[in-house]
Amino acid sequence: MFSYRHAFHAGNHADVLKHTTLIALMKYLTQKDTALTVIDTHAGAGLYRLDGDYTETSGEASQGILKLLSASKTVPVQAARAGAAPKNVAPATPDAAASSYAWAPALQDYLNLLRDLNPHFAQTSDPLHLKIYPGSPFIEQKFLSGRDKLKLFELHPTDYKSLAGNIEQLGVGRQVVVAREDGFEALKTFLPPPARRAMVLCDPSYEMKTDYLRVSSCMADAVKRFATGTYAVWYPIIPRPEAHDLPRKLKTLASKAGRSWLHATLTVKSSKLTLDPEGEVVRPGLPASGMFIINPPHTLKADLQAALPQMVQLLAQDRHAGFTLDHGG
Ligand code: SAM
Repeated sequence: MFSYRHAFHAGNHADVLKHTTLIALMKYLTQKDTALTVIDTHAGAGLYRLDGDYTETSGEASQGILKLLSASKTVPVQAARAGAAPKNVAPATPDAAASSYAWAPALQDYLNLLRDLNPHFAQTSDPLHLKIYPGSPFIEQKFLSGRDKLKLFELHPTDYKSLAGNIEQLGVGRQVVVAREDGFEALKTFLPPPARRAMVLCDPSYEMKTDYLRVSSCMADAVKRFATGTYAVWYPIIPRPEAHDLPRKLKTLASKAGRSWLHATLTVKSSKLTLDPEGEVVRPGLPASGMFIINPPHTLKADLQAALPQMVQLLAQDRHAGFTLDHGG
């Protein structure tokens, strides 16, 4: 059960989509005066080293945040200024637009947060100096003000320990609670929240097939308990029926409950199996992922409409790259 470690995946293209969306959500939801309760059902370790053993072994950040940064320096100035996605990934002319890429505001906020954690990177803008990558707990915590609360759940013993230690270093006391509990179950006990404002991130590893079902029933239960909360679900887009059913189920449950929803997907490459020169089947790794949000802020669609084409422009690995952005309710 516990083979998944987010450290192998930190900063990959799925994290770029998830964390940019999370930042846009947190930025909007923490602007109001009323206290917000943030619940992260599957928190991970909180902070990751991009030069650590795990991340270096998998190299996933090199096709995620590190690629986003380095490719932004190779886009011809005009395309960079317009923020437009050209048909093909731009040829490498590193001098052209080193600092002039016209980042969409949501991506700019994401990069600002990375700069806060990486002073050397902030000074140089050199991706090689991006050493620390924040997980969802650190992103959420950055936006809290004194009245807000953050509840973090993580079951893996090692990641729980790292998370608890990382959060303790922030010295934020009881504002942030870390628990080694099942996040699907724990969520029930916090809804509805005291000030009737909540943001929930549900980001399981989908290591077990049953996670897909648990996500949809957990969200159905959460919306019943507290209809006006904002619920954000990340999921992988892989050739597996459960993965395709999940957004459909979430759409149905939001529509039945009369709640608005927004669904964004990012594809970076084809999901087809290929053969290597020896005739062995090569799996493509994760080609795409999605974020499904119930009760999104009215600003989120425009935020993602601007950011997604840039993610495609900078993260595309082949001609199958693309995005979708859909909403309803
Ligand atoms: N949300 C994190 C982020 O964006 O930085 C990444 C989380 S990772 C995709 C999923 C995490 O959920 C793993 O660390 C895993 O150990 C943990 N996990 C798995 N099942 C869980 C459960 N039922 N309750 C809480 N955590 C669980």
